[in-house]
Amino acid sequence: MQINVNVVTPDGKVYDGDVDMVSVVTTEGELGILPRHISLVAPLTIGAVRLKKGTTVEKVAVSGGFVEVRPDQVTILAEAAELPSGIDVDRARQAKERAEKRVSENKADEIDHKRAELALRRAINRLNVSGK
Ligand code: ATP
Repeated sequence: MQINVNVVTPDGKVYDGDVDMVSVVTTEGELGILPRHISLVAPLTIGAVRLKKGTTVEKVAVSGGFVEVRPDQVTILAEAAELPSGIDVDRARQAKERAEKRVSENKADEIDHKRAELALRRAINRLNVSGK
């Protein structure tokens, strides 16, 4: 038995397929979902969605949003989401460098510091998912 997973962003559908198991990173921690899971909605943080099929695991980089779980279907509504093949590694490396600089420079301004930290987390997440 499998579960259907959809990953949708404001720009369109990033993934639609049947998997054995999917895990997402919610604000409360990692959530592993098997077919027949109870229905729930949870907010997502910056992290990797892991799609397990047999012995293979595909990853999607997600930058926050919501997961809606139903017994036969998981819908991930993401602010941004990329498959490894869709990740521009140079762009993520540049974003990481930029964010690291801002994190170290903006210690006094809490909002700018927080924003830079989130940009840094998005860049690191993309690099992790891309495998680079
Ligand atoms: P950047 O500073 O490089 O724009 P960001 O983290 O601020 O990075 P987001 O606001 O999360 O970017 O995303 C804006 C759009 O750009 C989204 O559609 C996202 O999928 C896309 N995107 C961002 N970074 C990358 C990347 N490294 N490779 C491919 N697409 C990316």
